[in-house]
Amino acid sequence: MANEAANTTPLSAFDAHHPPAQEILDKCVHCGFCLPVCPTYVLWREEMDSPRGRIYLMKMAQEGTAKMSDEWVGHFDACLGCVACMTACPSGVDYGKLIQATRAQIERNYNRSLVEKLRRRLLFETLTKPDRLNLLRWPLLAYQKSGARALVRSTGLLKLFPQFVEAVDALLPNLAAKESLAETTPAQGEKRKRVGLVLGCVQRAFFSSVNTATARVLAAEGYEVVAPPEQPCCGALMVHAGEEAGARELARSTIDAFERANVEYIISNAAGCGSNLKEYGYLLRDDPVYAERAKRFSAKCRDVCEVLAEAPPRSERKPLPARAAMHDSCHLQHAQGVRAQPRSLLAQIPGLELFELPESALCCGSAGIYNLVQPETAAALGDRKASFIAPLRPSVVVTGNPGCMLQLQSALERVNQRVPVLHTIQLLDASIRGVSLQSLL
Ligand code: SF4
Ligand code: SF4
Repeated sequence: MANEAANTTPLSAFDAHHPPAQEILDKCVHCGFCLPVCPTYVLWREEMDSPRGRIYLMKMAQEGTAKMSDEWVGHFDACLGCVACMTACPSGVDYGKLIQATRAQIERNYNRSLVEKLRRRLLFETLTKPDRLNLLRWPLLAYQKSGARALVRSTGLLKLFPQFVEAVDALLPNLAAKESLAETTPAQGEKRKRVGLVLGCVQRAFFSSVNTATARVLAAEGYEVVAPPEQPCCGALMVHAGEEAGARELARSTIDAFERANVEYIISNAAGCGSNLKEYGYLLRDDPVYAERAKRFSAKCRDVCEVLAEAPPRSERKPLPARAAMHDSCHLQHAQGVRAQPRSLLAQIPGLELFELPESALCCGSAGIYNLVQPETAAALGDRKASFIAPLRPSVVVTGNPGCMLQLQSALERVNQRVPVLHTIQLLDASIRGVSLQSLL
């Protein structure tokens, strides 16, 4: 860390350890094509809360004409890291790498308030530890099933607590019994490939049915599925929040776990995790032991929809009558460029009607820990999505990321829309098994 503390130039607000790359900053030609897809710009119409404005702020900090003040940091804290701006940019500006570097600089060099430090520590010490999330299941189940949650909400008791507590409560999923997943699920029929399944942290604890559905579908399509039980959190939440040292540690352990599993593909069903896994080669580029291994690991990573869409279907798809509204997760459509594959898989299901949402490039406000640390902005974006979903009168909303599932469910509840939000793979699994949508709820 000693070299991480030295400044790039005497004037720069950044230290010498990977400041935002000048060659990427210089690619921005200030055209503004990215502005209409930037959620914070759409909400507030403030140049400094647009991608172009944020790039300008990075340049100013680099040149020493801006300091890491509260206001400067605030513009980056408000960024969702959704990278919709990258999809829109005709000049190929890799904003994802810029914001990752800037956030790491902020966490090293900016002194957050004690409350903010504690809040962030609490989130990382919980959300990145599958064991701790598992332990939380029981008190949360009691809170929900005893009626305490309904009482707390109806009496407005939560208003007495910091907004953070209310945001956590609003996002709690309706917990069901946990489904267990075997370490190895054999392929049905002739084996196509041996693949590893990334279990995720929130997914593992709160959406175990998505993981079991993923293994069932892959097995039905001829893949042997290995889910290494020792795999840790992949570090996505940390790297997206600038906690690079912790993220690198988790990346190394994840690589170890999947190397031992000896698989041809490493499959994720959580878009935020998937985009992070594909960037391990970049995250560990300085690591003398892991740099090459990380590149090989990332080259094997696929979203589950990518793998399924690349081979002709084997198992029969039975009818699943439903009106499904499609929500693209940002880390799937923008960060991984996976947009057509979920649609092509859902189109295989007889009886399923798929509806597109207006403003589909725009983030729902989930964005890692964003909806917990920036609850007002996240709620405004969630409400905007809900306002587009409601007129479609869907029987289900379908997406590809647990964070989006929580965020959309919460936004829909706020407008009294009792529409379930499910993962793409759950609909495919229901169709292959020939079970109804209701049986998934
Ligand atoms: S990552 Fe998303 S919120 Fe951040 S500047 Fe780009 S479009 Fe805007
Ligand atoms: S679209 Fe690309 S080049 Fe144009 S302002 Fe946005 S980031 Fe810069």
